[in-house]
Amino acid sequence: MNCGDGTTSKKFVWARRASYTESAAVVHSASRLTGGDSTYTPSLVHTGYQILAAAKSIYVFPMKADGYPIAQGARTETGGGKPPYTAFREDAFRAIVSGNLGASIGNVGFNAADILGHEGAHLWGSQHPQTYGIPWGFQP
Ligand SMILES: [Zn+2]
Repeated sequence: MNCGDGTTSKKFVWARRASYTESAAVVHSASRLTGGDSTYTPSLVHTGYQILAAAKSIYVFPMKADGYPIAQGARTETGGGKPPYTAFREDAFRAIVSGNLGASIGNVGFNAADILGHEGAHLWGSQHPQTYGIPWGFQP
């Protein structure tokens, strides 16, 4: 999750695919999202994660690469003729899978619900200006 802020550097990191159980937990957490806006509703985002989970397209990537912390909490790719996927950084992933959506995620300045909602909106519209700044909350 890195929309329109400062400098970043690109690096390839290995990600692992979420297990069936973990993917189901991500979908369940997505079902608890509130907020959104008229374009990206919680129910649309929930559906997006259901599709991703069915396609086994949810991934986890590590906190660091070559000793440097990875600044981005998650990443979603759609289009380009490839199947969409979402990859969460390990800390965000753990919070989402355990249902701890209020957890503040490391150095990104967002909580787990923000990240889950934001990436879920990207599943339906990859342009950052459209998906940035949408308020996300969650049911307890
Ligand atoms: Zn984004």
